[in-house]
Amino acid sequence: MKVTAHIQNGNGKSQFSFEILPPLKGENIHSIFNNIDPLMEFKPPYINVTYHREEYIFKEVKDGLIEKKIVRKRPGTVGICAAIQNKYQVDAVPHILCGGFTKEETENFLIDLQFLGIDNVMALRGDAVKSETYFTPEKNGHKYACDLVSQLNDLNKGVYLDDALQNTSPTDFCVGVAGYPEKHMEAPSSESDIQYLKRKIENGAEYIVTQMFFDNEKYFKFVEKCRQAGISVPIIPGLKPIAVKTHLNLIPHRFKVDLPDALVKEVMKAKDNKEVRQLGIDWCIMQSKELVKAGVPFLHYYSMGKSNNIKEIASQVF
Ligand code: FAD
Repeated sequence: MKVTAHIQNGNGKSQFSFEILPPLKGENIHSIFNNIDPLMEFKPPYINVTYHREEYIFKEVKDGLIEKKIVRKRPGTVGICAAIQNKYQVDAVPHILCGGFTKEETENFLIDLQFLGIDNVMALRGDAVKSETYFTPEKNGHKYACDLVSQLNDLNKGVYLDDALQNTSPTDFCVGVAGYPEKHMEAPSSESDIQYLKRKIENGAEYIVTQMFFDNEKYFKFVEKCRQAGISVPIIPGLKPIAVKTHLNLIPHRFKVDLPDALVKEVMKAKDNKEVRQLGIDWCIMQSKELVKAGVPFLHYYSMGKSNNIKEIASQVF
């Protein structure tokens, strides 16, 4: 079932969803199930699974020579989605990227999803590979998520890349896209970022999931600006609890979001990570309860492979 149908079924009540990462190569599917199992009591109608593109690693070999290797540390997105749908009978939402994909590879990826009975995708551009400063699309790939959404929309109308194909079956994907309450790091202004977000919706995306934020006011203002810009689709807030002291530096650096002074102050005072974890949980519960009161359709938690703190939060909110 589509995410938009799950939103409708909620009848205005906020529901629970979360995102998981594929395990590191070498681990097995049970590490995923071990993370999902404790969260199933909160009845998530769908679970997102992130996609991780290739990275370049540089390895010193003989005589000081450096070898450049391409590795994918977290493969398995599609397989995990199929396994989730099979084991838990809940919808899986695979993330799909522009980065690392030609249009042809995108089409084939989507055909695999369709054959597996996966109705939802989250369409993203992806970041630059770690060794590059700027995002570079594949030759004959997409530069922006809005173009990937257009390809999805075409496929939903039965328009494949090869126009010689006849009697094609249309796919029926429900497409979600990313939104940034604190602006995407590369956008010159939040206004331009919202205009491009609007283009993703015009091209066929049906809902938005936000980047994490730690101050609900940022989300409320973002929703207001989106509505003023004519974006009317559901905007699902994304939340992540702080869990360790190093998150104070890592989260603003990695996700380009601000942490409220009050939260930073408390975390800095904490004597160990056990205390930090509890502070993160309490803060996230506070955010969640306020968002539920505001009538958000879903609360979407970034579990980052650790479900215990999400379980504690969900048990106070749902
Ligand atoms: P876009 O919408 O393409 O926007 C990228 C930038 O370009 C923005 O600054 C935008 O303002 C600008 N822009 C957009 N369209 C145009 C245009 N036509 N012309 C000029 N400028 C334009 N990354 C992963 O690698 N794997 C994941 O699984 C993953 N999941 C995510 C889930 C969520 C909910 C979020 C919020 C992010 C996720 N990311 C993931 C990170 C994401 O890939 C990065 O934030 C990426 O840098 C931008 O992706 P986007 O889809 O928002 O890009």
